[in-house]
Amino acid sequence: MDTIYIGIGSNLNDPIQQVNMAIEELGQIDDTEMLRSSGLYRSAPLGSADQPDYINAVCALITRAEPIELLDNLQNIEHQHGRVRGGEQWGPRTLDLDILLFGDKIINFDRLIIPHSGLDQRSFVLYPLYEIAPDLDVPGLGLLQTLIAACDQAGLERINKA
Ligand code: ATP
Ligand code: CA
Ligand code: CA
Repeated sequence: MDTIYIGIGSNLNDPIQQVNMAIEELGQIDDTEMLRSSGLYRSAPLGSADQPDYINAVCALITRAEPIELLDNLQNIEHQHGRVRGGEQWGPRTLDLDILLFGDKIINFDRLIIPHSGLDQRSFVLYPLYEIAPDLDVPGLGLLQTLIAACDQAGLERINKA
């Protein structure tokens, strides 16, 4: 069993609802159980500023699945939410599910890089992650407390879940 952390993002078609639904659906993946989910955050977009703000959250789950199996499950959920692939990088999307961490694994496959790239630079990942796992030691990157101390919170706002 591995403890995993998933980053959730949406900026289209009622993002708050997309994220709340995604949290429910993550808990229903085979061989996987939800442990904790963060509150919801609003963040300024990466990439083109000419798109709506994002709603983000991070979840901790426990799983028996293999990393690639889990990625397939996440991409299925994105697809069910109407995610269209192949647009501009960091363009607007109904749902984005990133595997941030998978136990203490460091993975470098073509389709799957863990820890998720950019994790240590992204306030909308680090702050919700800190909310649910303040003592985390991020494989290859060090203590979450140290990462967060170096990451500006500007443009990130915690919001109500409803
Ligand atoms: P970013 O990865 O910088 O947050 P993005 O989420 O917009 O950008 P996507 O278009 O959703 O990128 O994904 C591109 C590819 O990234 C996916 O097809 C997937 O194979 C790959 N990928 C690599 N590592 C991961 C990971 N840890 N979690 C999810 N997808 C990953
Ligand atoms: Ca992403
Ligand atoms: Ca993604």
